[in-house]
This record gives sequence, C-alpha cells and structure tokens, in this order.
Amino acid sequence: MSILVLGSGQLARMMALAGYPLGISVQAVDVADNKIVDPVTKHIINNSLDRVIEEVNGITVEFEHIPEDLLELVHGSGKLKPTVEAILTGADRIREKKLLERLAIDNCPFEIVTDVEQLDAAVEKLGEKLIIKASRDGYDGYGQWRLQNKNKLPELKQQLSKLDLQKVPLIVEKMLNFDRELSLVAVRSVDGDIAYYPLAENLHYQGQLHVSIAPAPKVDEALNQQAQDIFNKLAKSLDYVGVLAVEFFQIGQQLLVNEIAPRVHNSGHWTMQGADTCQFENHLRAVRGLPLGSTKVTSPTAMINIIGCKTFTRDMLSIPGCHLHWYGKSPRKKRKMGHFNLCADNYAELGKTMQALAEYVPIEYFPMLKDEAARLVKL
Ligand code: ADP
Ligand code: MG
Repeated sequence: MSILVLGSGQLARMMALAGYPLGISVQAVDVADNKIVDPVTKHIINNSLDRVIEEVNGITVEFEHIPEDLLELVHGSGKLKPTVEAILTGADRIREKKLLERLAIDNCPFEIVTDVEQLDAAVEKLGEKLIIKASRDGYDGYGQWRLQNKNKLPELKQQLSKLDLQKVPLIVEKMLNFDRELSLVAVRSVDGDIAYYPLAENLHYQGQLHVSIAPAPKVDEALNQQAQDIFNKLAKSLDYVGVLAVEFFQIGQQLLVNEIAPRVHNSGHWTMQGADTCQFENHLRAVRGLPLGSTKVTSPTAMINIIGCKTFTRDMLSIPGCHLHWYGKSPRKKRKMGHFNLCADNYAELGKTMQALAEYVPIEYFPMLKDEAARLVKL
C-alpha cells in the first residue's frame, strides 16, 4: 500500500513513520519543484509525478497551501482525500468564513477588506483593536498584522497599501479577549465514522503554537459536545475523510471557531505518545479506507514545540516520560525544528515533568514553559 502526500515537511515525515508498521509506504511531493522525495530521509526518488500519481493507492496533503495546478492534477486521479473543496476552504479565510456563516457556526466578528481605505469603516464596526489576516498563504502568524489603537491606523494603512488586496483580500477580525484557545482534532472515515481526540488547550506566542496540553483541563461535557457538534457539521458539509482540526477561542462557555485545518495538526502531535492511536496513523487509516484506531487517551500529555533552536543537550531524555521528536531540519528563526511530548499520570506530575525540562532548555526558546508548568502543578 502506498500513499502520496502533497508537501514534504514534518507532517509528511510523521505520516511516513506512522505508516511503516501498517505496511503503508509514504512518498511526498516537494510542491516547490514537483520532485518526489522520501519524507524521512529527504532523498529524491527518481520517478515522475504523473507515474507516482498513477501508482499510489491514495493521495493526501500535509498542508493546505497547495499550488492550484498540482491540486487539479491530483484531483483528476480521483484518489485525493480530503476533497479539493475541503483543502481550498482551509487555504482561504474568505471561503472558510463563508462556510462558517452558512452552517451558522459562531466565529470571530470580521470584515473583508479589498482596499486599505475600507479599514476606517472596519475600525468603526469592530473597534480599534484588530487582527488583520491575509486571506491566503498565512500560517504560524505569518501574513498577520495587529492594530492596538486608532492612532496607528495611518501607519498600518501605508504598510498594507503595498499589498495587492484585489488579488489577496484581507480578513479583518476583532481582537478577542478570549479565556483560552482550544482545538479539536478528530478523524472521519470513508464510511462517515468519526473518532474524536479530546480537546487540547493551546498556548501561542507571537501567533505561533508553543505548547498544547491534552486533554485540556477543565472541560465539561457541554463544552466537549459543543466542539464535537461543530466538528460534525463541518466534516459532513465538506464530505470529509481524514484528520481535520478545528481551532477555537473559548469565552465563558462559548466556543468561537478561529480556523480549520484540513490535515493533521500541530496541536495533535501529543497523540504520538498520549493516545492509543496517533493522529498520523488515523489519518492514513482513513485515507486508505481502513477502520479507524482508538483515540483513547493513555496519559495526560504536554506537547512543546522546539522553535528556531539549534542544538542543545539531550540529557533531558533522562526525565521520565520525556519524548523527543526531531524533524531533521536546518535551523531558522521561528522554524519548527521538533517537539517534546511529556507524559505523566496527572496534571500535577505533568507540571513537575515540565519544570524538570525547563532546567535543560534555553529559556529564550521556551518562554512560557515555566509559567505553564507552575499552573499545571497547581491544578
Ligand atoms: P495561523 O494560520 O497563523 O495559525 P490564526 O488565525 O490561527 O492563524 O492566528 C494565530 C494566532 O493568533 C491564534 O492562535 C491566536 O493566538 C491569535 N489570534 C488570531 N486571531 C485572533 C483574534 N481575532 N483575536 C485574538 N487573537 C487572535
Ligand atoms: Mg491557527
């Protein structure tokens, strides 16, 4: 059995690693040059894209920003899961907002802006604290601008006037003062069965995910049900197959959808050690039409991204329950280089494990580790 993944980064790599024991071999396409690569070794495989599309049993994506011609080419094969519509919806914030509105799913108040002069009206409507997002090609906080007060509007307008907003409009959102961020990662099979992982609590720094705690503490049945109902609506409407992630802002007992990701997700990496079947295996199972694996939690887990960091001592592997996943990439500022999964019997122990890890890692790369550890210890 073989699967082709569009995109050859760490998500394709982790799918490949999860595929081995199942006898599923995973190849990847580097979307920059359409070369076929082994996503683990990064070696180029001497085969043409057309041939590979013909040979493989299934095709999927590791990210949503796929060049249109490539998407069209693989769509023609009939092997692509999830659907093109799902991928395009995840790739374009305007499509995404339209879907949320059509399904009457609560989300953050917004305006679409195709000319910088419309920003004044957006401030009038939404208030002066705004997050401005390019409707396409943004990720990890890239393609985003923040307005903290009206006085800065002229400066911001000047900056944004350099963009072609007719081609890529902006989504301007009210900056929400939410209680916390959560995400639901779940998987839907070809037959429409859904297996949910529990909600994860996510901490971001400068627009980028740094820490996920799963299961998220203090989630009651009603909140869980609310998240699952939203997932069901989205997955059904997109005729979805595979892992889908939904990011939420929680305000009181209400969930607002921030965005959706039609793929395996960073806030689901904890499942590699903290769940019976990890998200990567479940995604492959779904794409291949196999039965889904159990999403049962095996232990509370903290996933900590390693961002921009070069090398550091690996002595931290002596910490019980500490697992390192290294992606084999060369370092760059804000680049996700790998992650830790920390597992423990309960939140307090998890907090202590995090405190132990914090002793080993350079604080500038892990700014929220100590505070988060202290919070967990007290739970
Ligand atoms: P990306 O595709 O880069 O993940 P997001 O829309 O998820 O883009 O934004 C990244 C992060 O920025 C969010 O996880 C959240 O922390 C913050 N953020 C985004 N939109 C808002 C908003 N409307 N109000 C407050 N914070 C926001
Ligand atoms: Mg996001």
